[in-house]
Amino acid sequence: MRILLVEDELDLANALARGLSQQGYVVDIAVDGEQGWAMGEINDYDLVILDLNLPGMDGLEVCRRLRASKPKLLILMLTARSRLEDKVTGLDLGADDYLVKPFHFEELAARIRALLRRDLRVREPILCVGDLKLDPASRTAWQGTRRLKLTRKEFGILHYLMRHPGEVISQEELIEHVWGEDVDLFTGSVRVHIHSLRRKLDDRAEHPRYIETVAGQGYRLLPPEEEGG
Ligand code: CA
Repeated sequence: MRILLVEDELDLANALARGLSQQGYVVDIAVDGEQGWAMGEINDYDLVILDLNLPGMDGLEVCRRLRASKPKLLILMLTARSRLEDKVTGLDLGADDYLVKPFHFEELAARIRALLRRDLRVREPILCVGDLKLDPASRTAWQGTRRLKLTRKEFGILHYLMRHPGEVISQEELIEHVWGEDVDLFTGSVRVHIHSLRRKLDDRAEHPRYIETVAGQGYRLLPPEEEGG
């Protein structure tokens, strides 16, 4: 489990990082909001511990931005007792939990364990369609017993199609769910990724076993009973 700790009070940050490392977490420290936002955006963290009162970009803004770009990232806010109204704003902005300073380390550790446990429970289940299997949590996919080496986009496309087997999915819908709605993208690049995904599945557009092209409409993941068409 990898944790990002955004805290400008260095003594506190170092003490927390030391304690968390002893519990087996990998901890990175960011000392201001800008750095916290940049590190949270670039790296894959399981959880962010975010102080609200930071120099430069404040914690609420960091929270808002991280939440917008990483909807599933767990965020635990640290707030001073005098700024309780921030707590409400923070939760509105999508923080998962908060802790009022000063706190005991044991309470922080317990909150982290509770958040990670809750996260495991709500994680998406493994998907199976025919001999395809996909685990969203570990981002792995298999064809039979063979593990597929997919790019992020190929994985995203396959994931979305496997959530809707048998349904025709338009290129626009794939773009919205795999690339994000802010991306301005030519639908031609969806075709490129579908092509490479097919190649990795040893699938052919003319006689699809998996992904069927529905002319003028989009793509369809064939349910097992329709394979070999
Ligand atoms: Ca602070």
